Amino acid sequence: MVSRTEEKPLASWMGEDLIEGEVRRTLTVILKSSGCRWNRCRMCGYRFERYHSIEENDLTQRMLAQIRWIEGNYRSDDYDVVKIFTSGSFFDSGEVPVEVRDRLGSLIRGKIVIAESRAEYITSPVISSFLDLIDTGDHQMPLYVAMGLETTNDQIREKCIDKGSTFADFIQAANTADKAGVGVKTYLMMKPLFLTESEAIADMKISISEAAPYSDLISMNLCTVQKRTDLEYYWKRGAYRPPYLWSALDVLLSTDEKVSCDPVGGGYARGPHNCGNCDREIKNAINEYSLSYDRDLIQAVYETECECKKEWQYVLLHEMPWCMPLTR
Ligand code: SF4
Ligand SMILES: [Zn+2]
Repeated sequence: MVSRTEEKPLASWMGEDLIEGEVRRTLTVILKSSGCRWNRCRMCGYRFERYHSIEENDLTQRMLAQIRWIEGNYRSDDYDVVKIFTSGSFFDSGEVPVEVRDRLGSLIRGKIVIAESRAEYITSPVISSFLDLIDTGDHQMPLYVAMGLETTNDQIREKCIDKGSTFADFIQAANTADKAGVGVKTYLMMKPLFLTESEAIADMKISISEAAPYSDLISMNLCTVQKRTDLEYYWKRGAYRPPYLWSALDVLLSTDEKVSCDPVGGGYARGPHNCGNCDREIKNAINEYSLSYDRDLIQAVYETECECKKEWQYVLLHEMPWCMPLTR
């Protein structure tokens, strides 16, 4: 059995994010919890990172120990923003006990907090009480709930992701957040399983425009192949390829919305990639763009020539969809 004194988050790191017009220092923490109750999304590997069959009291103690670890390892003065992820939903009280949420809220009081949750756990009493804990009146928007909408297309979300929620569920949660004075950060997923490259680009462009009215922040996640997932099963058999970085540039250049993107795994076979020669430069440009929204940065790399750009253009024209049946 792991000693309680050794409990620490699954991961934590410092970074930067552009929020409310300023580049701010961000602490990101991924807490280990009892895990996502849905637990089915085809591309999700985080759902395996959980305490299995754990009693509530033990869960509470272990998660409180993680919070003590954060307190002991990061100085509050060193960050302005905290991004909280769990292996599921931060606002699911069955997954993250209220005592744990309250303790973390007290620790990060006065910061801008972005906390991820599925839509069904965004209820007025839960987010309002967390907002009260962290809000010192210093920020225009102290709390954002982050939801993995992935796409505004319900069929793609159901068939290609198996997310178990609808665009209407997201809108309802966004309205609940809005009424409570809480912002909405929307995560969209570029290229879920079964979409061709050109279908993925079209889906992302539509999703950005349809999600924007309900979102204060939008982040485009470029799909990566995580271990032990459905997506990995297909990828290993040559039936899935992560998106080209060219596609990400195409999307970012096509919209007037400020969409951030961190090409995690960029340049690797399991992550968004081009040919290997041009990946690093494009990945860096996308990261810099997300801290400035300076279009020239991404326009410049989009205009560079690389042999793989022709390959990407060929794929856009010739890749064929192999549809799933709509009925049983
Ligand atoms: S809802 Fe989130 S944590 Fe749960 S399986 Fe889906 S992507 Fe993973
Ligand atoms: Zn290239």
